[in-house]
Amino acid sequence: MMRQNKLFNKTRVSLSLWYAGVMGLILSLLGMGVYKAISHAHWVALDNELESVAGTLHDSLELKLKQPGQIEPIIKKLLPNLCLVETSCISERFNSQRHILSAIDRGNYYARLYDMSGRLIAIAGDYPEGLPQALNKKPWQTFKDGTGNIYHQISLSLHTQTREDWGYFQVGRSLADFEDYLGRVKLVLLLGLPISLILVAVASWWLAGLAMQPIYRSYQQIEQFTADAAHELRTPLAATQATVESSLLVDLDKQETKDILTTIKQENKRLIQLVADLLWLARMDRKAIPLRQQLCCLNDLVDDLVEELEPLAIANQITLTSEFRVKKSINVSGDCDQLYRLVYNLIVNAIQYTPSEGRVTVILERDASHALIQVKDTGIGIAPEHQKKIFDRFYRIQDDRSRSTGGSGLGLAIAQSIARSHSCKLSVRSELGQGSTFIFQLPLASNLRDTKSLIP
Ligand code: ADP
Repeated sequence: MMRQNKLFNKTRVSLSLWYAGVMGLILSLLGMGVYKAISHAHWVALDNELESVAGTLHDSLELKLKQPGQIEPIIKKLLPNLCLVETSCISERFNSQRHILSAIDRGNYYARLYDMSGRLIAIAGDYPEGLPQALNKKPWQTFKDGTGNIYHQISLSLHTQTREDWGYFQVGRSLADFEDYLGRVKLVLLLGLPISLILVAVASWWLAGLAMQPIYRSYQQIEQFTADAAHELRTPLAATQATVESSLLVDLDKQETKDILTTIKQENKRLIQLVADLLWLARMDRKAIPLRQQLCCLNDLVDDLVEELEPLAIANQITLTSEFRVKKSINVSGDCDQLYRLVYNLIVNAIQYTPSEGRVTVILERDASHALIQVKDTGIGIAPEHQKKIFDRFYRIQDDRSRSTGGSGLGLAIAQSIARSHSCKLSVRSELGQGSTFIFQLPLASNLRDTKSLIP
């Protein structure tokens, strides 16, 4: 048992690890995807914003510019905080007020004006210190200043009112807030990932346990079944062996030999029956036994069974009777041989587990849609804790007693298997010392109700 638990625990651990690993990979890829999507959306928004700010300024400036490389006074009016590079305003500017142009006023924008030779003429906006001043004519640029701050910038060529080349115009902004935001997103994702991985690991451990439960249960059932089957097979084999060994030790007369051979024959018969039952159950499990759909008359079925089992009942001093609660025949659709076997097992049990002078009654009745067979006895009864288990293979309440009746503990398992193959349920109502009633309900043969017997 310990070894199996180890094996199942090992499987559970590796299942959980695999699950957590795969989920971790998926979550990491998802996190990366989310980060990329957020970053991309920000870049697109940033480019649009920069383009629109630059476009607005560029158009307003071109309307006023007259001489190439010359800043008209009107431009100063348009951009009152415009600072010409040659003047001393540059140093004062870093702490000064913002532009009047609302577009520039919205963010950390700066603007630069270059003449055609690439010389910086004027600056405007939140102009950062340490920005490289050399002209780069590429339309879009992203670069770092001396302190590592990142900037994004757009360059446009400027023309005068008369469409003469004036110079170049650049609008850019610091990406500090943008980097800050992405940094926070990255942190959330990086912190979130291990936390979610821990949660995934816990969930996968729990899920693996859930998934293993039915496997573990059926493993235990198989083990129990194998042990029970081996035990059942060993008992008659051991009995035969002992009989043969003791017979070999003495000289037997004709009658004694006959008695011994009869005992061996009985044990052998028991073995053959047991193996046949086991094979039958295994084939039923594999659904290897085709279920015939015949029209069966339950009245005839019960009559036949009572007639067949009457001698057994008499031998056990039991009164076996049938009780048909409806006058007309009750027909169901199913495999008649199997249904016969089912009720047979129930009646045999009822006879075997009822003390002499008791009664066994087979009751047949029906409601609007179902036929109902009840096998009722006045026998020893079954305690509530055993009532579910008696349908398990090899389960016996009193081992000695049922062995003395020749039972192998498979009768009710076979009955239940037949019931299930007919999509019906076999149940029991019982009180210890008072007797038991086994109840089996079958749907009526739909369009052939109340017709005459058709048992083949
Ligand atoms: P067995 O071959 O031992 O009869 P079954 O599967 O038919 O095996 O029944 C399982 C166990 O259920 C029996 O061993 C017995 O203890 C109990 N049982 C079955 N039918 C009855 C009944 N009518 N009254 C009391 N106990 C019963």
